[in-house]
Amino acid sequence: MNANELDRFAEKTTPHLRDLAATSEAVRAMYVYDSRYENVPVNRDADLFLEKQLTRTKGVVYKYPGRVIILLSYTCAANCRYCERQDRVGVGLDEEGRLTEADIDAAVAFVGAHPEINEVIFSGGDPLTHPRGLALAAERMAALEHVKIQRIHTRFPLQAPGKVDFALLQRIAALPTTWYLSLHVDHPDELTPEVVEVIRRIRSLGLILICQSVFLKGVNDDIDVLARLFTHLAELGVRPYYLYHCHPIATTTHFVMSLDEEIAIMSRLRERLSGVACPQHIFEMRNTTGKLLVPTDHWNVDLAEVVDFTGAVHDVASASMSVELPHAAASGKRSRP
Ligand SMILES: *Cc1c(COP(=O)(O)O)cnc(C)c1O
Ligand code: SF4
Repeated sequence: MNANELDRFAEKTTPHLRDLAATSEAVRAMYVYDSRYENVPVNRDADLFLEKQLTRTKGVVYKYPGRVIILLSYTCAANCRYCERQDRVGVGLDEEGRLTEADIDAAVAFVGAHPEINEVIFSGGDPLTHPRGLALAAERMAALEHVKIQRIHTRFPLQAPGKVDFALLQRIAALPTTWYLSLHVDHPDELTPEVVEVIRRIRSLGLILICQSVFLKGVNDDIDVLARLFTHLAELGVRPYYLYHCHPIATTTHFVMSLDEEIAIMSRLRERLSGVACPQHIFEMRNTTGKLLVPTDHWNVDLAEVVDFTGAVHDVASASMSVELPHAAASGKRSRP
C-alpha cells in the first residue's frame, strides 16, 4: 500500500467542541475519531452525488437548474465523522480546494454566462474558513444582474462560535442580493449560550437563517431530541429546512438509519411540531440527480422505487447502499408492516 491508501479522514475539533464533548455524548459521537468504525482508507476518487462529474469550472457544481454551488474551500473548522464530502474534506486537500482569485473570476464568468441562474450557494468544506474568497466572490456575484439570491452553507458558528467574522458577514449582507445562511445543526447540545448569541447577531445583520440536519443513529435518532432541536431553532429564528438521510460511506456506516426508522420519526414530528419548525425530509440519491422529499407514513405509497430529477427509475435500496466500500452496511429497504 502506498501512503495515500493508508490515509484516514482526519480528526479535527476546536477548543469549543472539546469543552462541549466533555459533557455531551452526542458531540463526542459527532466529532471524536472512533477506531471501531473508522479504520478505513480514504477514497479520494469517490463521487457520491456526481458533484465532480458536474463541476463546470473549479469549485463550481451546476446540478440543479437556476442555482449553482460554489465550493470555496475544502477546509472546515472541525471534521464531522459522518461527513459525506470526505473524499475532499479532511483528507489533506485543503490547499487544492481553496479557490484563488483566478478561480473565482472563472466561477463568476460561468455564472455570468448563465442568465438562468438566480441563486449562488457557497459551500465547501466551509466557506467561512475562506473569508477573503467569500468576500470577493460575493461582491462579484452580486454585480451580476441576474443573481438575486446568495446563500452560505456553514457549520462554522457551531464549531468555532468565538471566531465568526461578523465584519465580513456585515459587509456581504450589505450587497444588493437577498442572503440566506444555512446552519448545519444536528443536536440540541450544539446550541450553547455562546452559539445562541452568535445566531442572534447573524440574524440582526439581516441574513435569513435556515438550517440543515442529518439523521444520525446514536445522536438524534429520537423524536424528543429532534423536537427539542427544531423547536429551539425555530424559536431562535432559524427555519428548519432539510433533514437528510445519511448514506453509508467510509466512516459513516454506524450513523446510518434505515428510511423506515426515519419515516416513523419524521411522521410523528410532523404531528407534533409547528409548520415553521418542521423541516423537509430529504433523500438524495447516490450517483443520481435529485433531492427527493420522503413521504410520511400518513400516505400509503410504494417506496421501493423512486424516479430521479432526470426521469430515471431507481431501486431505493441500491440508491441508498454503499458502492464504494465492501464492508459498508446496507440501509433498509422499506417494507410495510
Ligand atoms: C443541494 C444542492 C443545491 C441546492 O439545492 P436546494 O434544494 O435549493 O437547497 C444546489 N446544488 C447542489 C449540487 C446541491 O447538492
Ligand atoms: S461541516 Fe460539513 S463539510 Fe465540514 S466536515 Fe462537517 S459535514 Fe463535512
